[in-house]
Amino acid sequence: MQVLKFGGTSVGKPERMKKIADLLMATPGKKIVVLSALSGTTNALVKIGENLLADSRGAAEREITSLEKHYGIFVRELFSSEAYKAIGHEIVSRYFSLFRLLAAGKFDDRSLRELLAQGELISTELFYHHLQERKIPSRLLPALHFMSIDENQEPELEKISERLGPLIQTLGNVDLLVTQGYICRNHKNEIDNLKRGGSDYTASLIGAAIKATEVQIWTDIDGMHNNDPRIVKKTFPIAELTFDEASELAYFGAKILHPSTIVPAQKYSVPVRLKNTMDEKAAGTLISNKGTRGEFKAIAAKDGITSISIKSSRMLLAYGFLRRVFEVFEKFKTPIDVVSTSEVAVSVTIDDNTFLPQIEDELRSFGSIEVDKNLSIICIVGSRLSEKEGVLKQVFESLGTTPIRMVSFGGSNNNITIVLDTAGKDKALNLLNEGLFNIHS
Ligand code: ASP
Ligand code: MG
Repeated sequence: MQVLKFGGTSVGKPERMKKIADLLMATPGKKIVVLSALSGTTNALVKIGENLLADSRGAAEREITSLEKHYGIFVRELFSSEAYKAIGHEIVSRYFSLFRLLAAGKFDDRSLRELLAQGELISTELFYHHLQERKIPSRLLPALHFMSIDENQEPELEKISERLGPLIQTLGNVDLLVTQGYICRNHKNEIDNLKRGGSDYTASLIGAAIKATEVQIWTDIDGMHNNDPRIVKKTFPIAELTFDEASELAYFGAKILHPSTIVPAQKYSVPVRLKNTMDEKAAGTLISNKGTRGEFKAIAAKDGITSISIKSSRMLLAYGFLRRVFEVFEKFKTPIDVVSTSEVAVSVTIDDNTFLPQIEDELRSFGSIEVDKNLSIICIVGSRLSEKEGVLKQVFESLGTTPIRMVSFGGSNNNITIVLDTAGKDKALNLLNEGLFNIHS
C-alpha cells in the first residue's frame, strides 16, 4: 500500500484535481490518497473564524459568500454531466449551510476548530464524486474516525494504527481510498487539527500506521532544492536525503515539507518521496535511511532569530550552570535552536520572542545578558560531514569576509549551523552556493 498526499495547489483548480485522478489511474496497486483543502480555503476559514470570534458577523458573512461563489464555479468546471453538477452543488450548499449555522451560534474556539476542518472535508467529498463520475472505484476513508491527538497535541500513532486496519477492512476490496489531511480528533473527542500545513504529517502518520511501502508528497515543485530558490538563482533538486538530513532542512526553512512529517516515517523506515504534480516525470527527492558520506547536500535558512548571551565569571569551573540556564527556557516553554559556549559565557538562539522579557529577567541573576535580534540561521546539511576533508575550510572560504555571529558543528554529523545578521543572509546563501556546489550565477 502506498500513501499519496496532494497539497492545496494540487487540488486548487478543477483541471488539477482531474489530473490527480489521471495520475492515480496510472499508478498501479493499492493507495491511500490524502488531500488538503483547496488552496486558499483554510486561509479563508481562518479569516471567517477570526471575524466570528471578534463578533464581526457582517465581515464573516461576506467572506462566506465569496468563498461559496468560488466553490460554485469550481463545481461547474469539475463535473461534466448535469447530474453530477447537481450533486456537486448539493455538497457545496450543505457545507455552506453548516458554516452559517456555526456563524449564527455562540462561536468559540471549539467552533473554530470545527470550521477549519471543513476545508479538507469538502475537497475530499468533491474529489470522491469526481472519481464516481469517471467510474473510478474508490471509497472515502474518514480521517475523523481514526486520526487522533493526545492532551499534548501529539498524534497517537499506536491508536491510529489499531483503528486503521479494521476500518480499511470494512471498506471492502478497493484499490483507492481517499482521506482528509490535517484534521483529527483530540483527547476530548472534539474535532481538531494537526496545525497549518499538517496534511503532510497526516500522510506520514498513515504511512507509518499501515507500514506503507512509500509515502509520496505531491506539491508544485520538483523536490527539495539544494538552496532557497527565492534567493539563489541556480538551485537544483536533491535526489536523495536521509531522514536526519531532511528533518534538519524542513525545520530550518525548506518550506516544502511540514517538519514533523519525517518523525513517523523515520520510526518505521517508510521512505518519503517528494514529487511534482506539474512535472510527473521529474525524479523529485527520495528521503530514506540510505546515506552517503562526506558530501554537502543542501543549505536552508531561517529568519526571525534572536540570540541571547549570558556571561558569568561564576561559570568558570562551575558545574550545573548550563542546566540552570536551560531551565529558564524550559519554564517559559521556549525552544532553543543553536547553542555555543565558552568557559565564561553561553549564547543560545530562539525563534519565539513571546516570553523574551521574562527570560531576560530571570537570566540576569546569572550574569550580564546581551540580546541581539534580526538574526538568521543558515543550516548547511550534508552526510557524515566530519569525514569530509577540509569541510570547515570550504565553508569559511566560501563565506569570505561575511561577518558571522555564531557557529555550531558536531552536534550531529550532518549539519553545520551559522548564525548571522539577516541583512547578510542573501549574500551568504549565494556565496555558499558557489563555494559548496560550484554553481556560478
Ligand atoms: N489545509 C491545511 C492548511 O492550509 C493543511 C494543509 O494544507 O496541509 O494549513
Ligand atoms: Mg503544504
